[in-house]
Amino acid sequence: MAQIELNNLTKTYKSHSALKSVDLTVKDKEFLVLFGPAGAGKTTTLKMIAGLEFPDEGLVKINGEIVNIVPPANRNVSMVFENYALYPHLSVYDNIASPMRSSLYRESEEYIKEAILKVTAKMKIDHLLERLPSQLSNGQRQRVALGRCLVRKPNVFLMDEPLAHLDAKLRHFMRAELKEMQASFDTTTIYVTHDYMEALSLGDRIAIINQGEIVQIGTGEELFYTPCNQFVAGLMGEPEINIIPGEIIRDGANVRVKLARQNQLYELPEDVADFFRGNSIEQVNLGVRGNDVSCSSERTSTKSIKGTVYVLEPIGNRSILTADVEGQKIRIIVSNSYDVDMDSTIYVDMDFSDIIFFDRESEEFLIRHNQESLVKEGANG
Ligand code: ATP
Repeated sequence: MAQIELNNLTKTYKSHSALKSVDLTVKDKEFLVLFGPAGAGKTTTLKMIAGLEFPDEGLVKINGEIVNIVPPANRNVSMVFENYALYPHLSVYDNIASPMRSSLYRESEEYIKEAILKVTAKMKIDHLLERLPSQLSNGQRQRVALGRCLVRKPNVFLMDEPLAHLDAKLRHFMRAELKEMQASFDTTTIYVTHDYMEALSLGDRIAIINQGEIVQIGTGEELFYTPCNQFVAGLMGEPEINIIPGEIIRDGANVRVKLARQNQLYELPEDVADFFRGNSIEQVNLGVRGNDVSCSSERTSTKSIKGTVYVLEPIGNRSILTADVEGQKIRIIVSNSYDVDMDSTIYVDMDFSDIIFFDRESEEFLIRHNQESLVKEGANG
């Protein structure tokens, strides 16, 4: 059991700033996902907690105790790496036993055997104990690495993209297993990924990191419905959210929005209109997800926007149609049976009640309709 606290954590490699004053609290028993693009600083953050790297500035606390100068072996933190890091000359059994045989823990062989049998049965690798890592599939190797991490009941699990090398089916299966495992082990976990589905399905909360800075922390719902800026909105969702420039048009108390290169004025939900009555912001970006846009080969209303079909990509049980509207590409989720000719005319309709408004210049979140009720209370922190 452990709470982890990072205060003002800063790390520079030569002249490259890898972490810039990171503050993050991971609650006891929490499953926190650290999510961000390549090079964001995810692995560096884990290494600081594990004690494999030292911060230039700032504190790492585990259960309130500053551990900056505590050696890795004494932090009782277990880290699983993306590349498994198994000993090639040791059997699965001995690989998993290795942390318990270290001079620090030195458990009895009887204790070790019992612990290994318990963990490997849970992970369904108990039939592989005699094999060498080279005789295992990637998925099996990954489970051995996880087993080795789980077997010594650490205070904290640090997992660095542990499912990255698995095929989609196995990744899906392992995700469910990991979730169940964490619930039964009840150990504080920080899990690094740049897979959006993985972040959503595993995290109690998700911390978004970019260019060495924590951008937003919240539940998957908070980040999805009320992203603090366009960058976060762009990470959450597949296909990526459409960002369409617009202009707020005020006519007395009447507040409407006009899309760039379109003449049509669109009514706004009352709470959104009210927000814009209280300020003078004109230049906005509209964040519109692919499932809040529909399309048809016939004009369905006077508000329909005319475009052409740019591309239609099947993605399993649905397809993504990209429409070209005056040079702006709009991604729309359609059924996988949807059939249409490239370059044909298409009419696009948006559901304005689900649009997220961003400031055009700062790209920061402004408002969305019903934002209070979309996000569960008390999830931030
Ligand atoms: P990825 O998803 O690609 O693994 P990441 O978010 O884990 O990325 P880090 O590995 O933490 O990113 O790296 C953060 C930044 O620090 C990157 O720009 C990386 O090139 C740089 N960096 C990391 N380790 C070193 C090092 N030992 N020397 C120099 N630069 C480093």
